[in-house]
Amino acid sequence: MQFATDCQLPAEFAMINFDQNATTPVDEAVLNELIRATREFSGNTSSGHSLGAKASKFLRECRERVANILHADDPDEIVFTSGGTESDNAAVRGIAFAMRAEHDRNEVITSAIEHRAVLAPCDWLAGQGFKSTVLPVDSDGVVNIAALRDNQGAKTALVSIMLANNEIGTIQPIAEISRLAHEVGAMVHTDAVQAAGKLAIDVNDLGVDSLSLSAHKFYGPKGIGVLYLRKGTPCECFMLGGTHEGGRRAGTVPLPQIAALTTALEVSERKRIEHGAELKALRDRLVDELLAKIPGSHLNGRLETCTPNTASIRFDGVYGGHLLKRMDEEGILASAGSACMWEITKPSHVLTALGLNDEQGGGTIRFSLGYGNTPQEVSQVANTLARLVPELRGRTVVM
Ligand code: PLP
Repeated sequence: MQFATDCQLPAEFAMINFDQNATTPVDEAVLNELIRATREFSGNTSSGHSLGAKASKFLRECRERVANILHADDPDEIVFTSGGTESDNAAVRGIAFAMRAEHDRNEVITSAIEHRAVLAPCDWLAGQGFKSTVLPVDSDGVVNIAALRDNQGAKTALVSIMLANNEIGTIQPIAEISRLAHEVGAMVHTDAVQAAGKLAIDVNDLGVDSLSLSAHKFYGPKGIGVLYLRKGTPCECFMLGGTHEGGRRAGTVPLPQIAALTTALEVSERKRIEHGAELKALRDRLVDELLAKIPGSHLNGRLETCTPNTASIRFDGVYGGHLLKRMDEEGILASAGSACMWEITKPSHVLTALGLNDEQGGGTIRFSLGYGNTPQEVSQVANTLARLVPELRGRTVVM
């Protein structure tokens, strides 16, 4: 397979990058667009003069192109933010507050395997007088729909469930969740940060009112993201200041980053269409090789309900932290749980929610591939782990 060598790690990192849910290398075309837009659109989109007008026209074009990829009805439904964390915060806090003010609804519902960017705002809302309900998931990480039905009602302001999980890759039945939540008049947000470039995203098929994206997860730069907000969705703006982004997100518009995000979304969508099946085959092959070569290794979740690049595998009797360190020394990047969990010795909340105990969670490694990976790398990783895992088995760990 020969594809997408245009999104590799820097030359001094001659490493195998199986940690691409943490972040992706910036695609060459995206980098070029970032540089071009920085040079060409130096004006402030808010300025009334011709330099500002040129920038403002290009901003409009970017908004239209992003709306087009997401199948949004109106480019004005696209709000540019600083990334996934901001988009999630803006949606969860903003929609909950507006629904309370306008519709006297004070309950939010989320799932046990959300990213902290959703869980923390939901916790925060609980301190602001909201009832916050966290739905359980099954052992594959799929949200319990019956629990949603039981917990939602006339007071539900927002249901926020992620489209794809960052640690185990589970894809949630968002269209069904939207339909159910709308039956009781609630708004629906989905964190699609781990879906872009891996799954088709159509906001109308999903039926969501709001959706988050982050460019650095789809071969774009860090610090730029999207909040899709369906027309008419109540949402209080918490970034106060100017009237940028239709009054929904104050702050001078970072046009070069937006240009890069737009190109990255188009590039990653093209990669998905042209090479998505190869990416999935590569991931499947990694799972097959690891499970075949290493006795006492198990897949967390199910590949059928999982993003095409992600596999969460646990190795009996091994502490993931030790294994990751040895893998790093051998030139292989991966992760335990999520990247933010590197220093933490307890299994992540996601693995715990699947029902894994401390030992099972502690022995879990997340492999997340990208469009630059090759079959040779898969074999090298499987062979290296087949050597390292028995070596590390039984080493003492303090949990
Ligand atoms: N949501 C999910 C599912 C993520 O994986 C991440 C990043 O790891 C975020 C939100 C936060 O995005 P950002 O890094 O752009 O703040």
